[in-house]
Amino acid sequence: MKVIIIGGGIVGLSTAWALARSGHDALLFEQGPLPHAGGASYDQHRLIRLPYADQPGYCAMTVDALRSWGRMWDDLGESHYAEVGSLALSTEEGDWADLSRQTLDHLGLDYETLDAKQIEALCPFMTAPPEAWGLYNTTGGLLFASRIVDSLIRDLGRRGVTLRGETRVVGVDPGTGAVVLENGKRETADAIVVAVGAWTAKLFPETKRRAVPHRQVVAYMAPPEAHAESWAKAPVMVHLLNEVDIYAAPPAGGSELKFGCGQHRRPGDPDRLDPLGDNEAAEVASAFAPLLRDFADYKVLRGQVCPYAVSPDERFVTESNGPILLIGGCSGHMFKFGALMGEQLARTATGETSFKDFRLWAEGRHQTLTRA
Ligand SMILES: Cc1cc2nc3c(=O)[nH]c(=O)nc-3n(C[C@H](O)[C@H](O)[C@H](O)COP(=O)(O)OP(=O)(O)OC[C@H]3O[C@@H](n4cnc5c(N)ncnc54)[C@H](O)[C@@H]3O)c2cc1C
Repeated sequence: MKVIIIGGGIVGLSTAWALARSGHDALLFEQGPLPHAGGASYDQHRLIRLPYADQPGYCAMTVDALRSWGRMWDDLGESHYAEVGSLALSTEEGDWADLSRQTLDHLGLDYETLDAKQIEALCPFMTAPPEAWGLYNTTGGLLFASRIVDSLIRDLGRRGVTLRGETRVVGVDPGTGAVVLENGKRETADAIVVAVGAWTAKLFPETKRRAVPHRQVVAYMAPPEAHAESWAKAPVMVHLLNEVDIYAAPPAGGSELKFGCGQHRRPGDPDRLDPLGDNEAAEVASAFAPLLRDFADYKVLRGQVCPYAVSPDERFVTESNGPILLIGGCSGHMFKFGALMGEQLARTATGETSFKDFRLWAEGRHQTLTRA
């Protein structure tokens, strides 16, 4: 089958990879250059972690996602994953980490619980609240996002997949299975996969309330000399405080330490994102102050502005109309599913999986481990 893919982020590229390896003909359009640093997928790292609060569907999908990344590493001939584990903190019954623990129990997945002393032994740069306990998983870690995107682009080129950068799609016609390009030309295919991230509502305005484009800022940091070694061995960190949703990517595998804060985001047009404000990166970093020893000695190296589309319930948005299959609203948590989502989109676009099953799965409504 011939399948057109719109969008050259992790989802579009992974779909092209999955189609090509199962013998289909993929043609991908990306409005920016390839790789596109202005999309959501091109940053040093993205986190992959099993804890998923009270969402067993996405927790189970993460197990499958790790297998899918394994298949991709085999094809690429190199791994872009550092299994450093993950740590979340709980200070109240029923908070994010506590719900995650219950979900891991429900699915029979392994974890360890750490008391405040054990948390500080694992992460000597932290001062854990005395009442806190840690949810520690040895599975999970860092996906080196921009290296994956670069490597995929090279692999797809070797496989003869046509990748057309700097080619914006301005319309999609479900009746004829055609996409309309900015220069007025049309290309037809048996199926069209739309994976345009924060731009979803620009191409499909009917999704504007379910895939709301946002602007997010992350801060790249230099830890104080005294803590550099323990940071280099640290797990990825998610949901460390209940009041603010902060996360950290440790500096493993040649990457840099990065801090993020879920609350530090606001709606924004992905084509006209406000540039980084003078103090924005420092503001993101300041959310970590209550948890870090010697916080005053951390240095902000730089901030980075990224676009992504947020869905109100954080479930991925799917649509199907004739030959068109759309995935959007990928929020702050699609990268970890990139390879797996590509495989599932390829199966659905080529008729191997029904759209109904795909939607249930992509919305994380499966209660059991799915088989990829
Ligand atoms: C700061 C930040 C931190 C995050 N942290 C994590 C994390 O730790 N773990 C995790 O799993 N996820 C994380 N995410 C989310 C994850 O990065 C995104 O969900 C994922 O990268 C989205 O991939 P995508 O391919 O859907 O979109 P993108 O990578 O944005 O790609 C979409 C592409 O479509 C192109 N496009 C748009 N419109 C058109 C058009 N009309 N014609 C042609 N091309 C078009 C765009 O130019 C863009 O390159 C984070 C996101 C951000 C912003």
